[in-house]
Amino acid sequence: MNEPMNHSRRRILLTGGLAAAALALGRGAAAAEGPRLSPDDPQAKALGYVENASSVDPAQWPKFADPSGQNCANCALYQGGDADWGACGIFPGKQVAGAGWCNAWVPAG
Ligand code: SF4
Repeated sequence: MNEPMNHSRRRILLTGGLAAAALALGRGAAAAEGPRLSPDDPQAKALGYVENASSVDPAQWPKFADPSGQNCANCALYQGGDADWGACGIFPGKQVAGAGWCNAWVPAG
């Protein structure tokens, strides 16, 4: 007697699940656009880009020295949201590491 309702509920749950999966896939695809920026790229080198902010030499890049805690993930130019890698306005078409840093860092928010 309740069988038709169960079917329709199942369909709604399934459709909702697929929509959520599509959204998640869409977000993943957006975050994964473009190759990862190589720290050896000439423009990356010019700006002191590294994939891990802990390896920045503050003597060479004094902007990083104070305050520390700067990284791509908390830079206003990072477009990756919570993803480990994401686009950056300074390096179009490439992805930078959320844990990375470069001398163009500006505070988010
Ligand atoms: S501009 Fe910001 S997000 Fe882009 S590489 Fe430099 S620190 Fe990272």
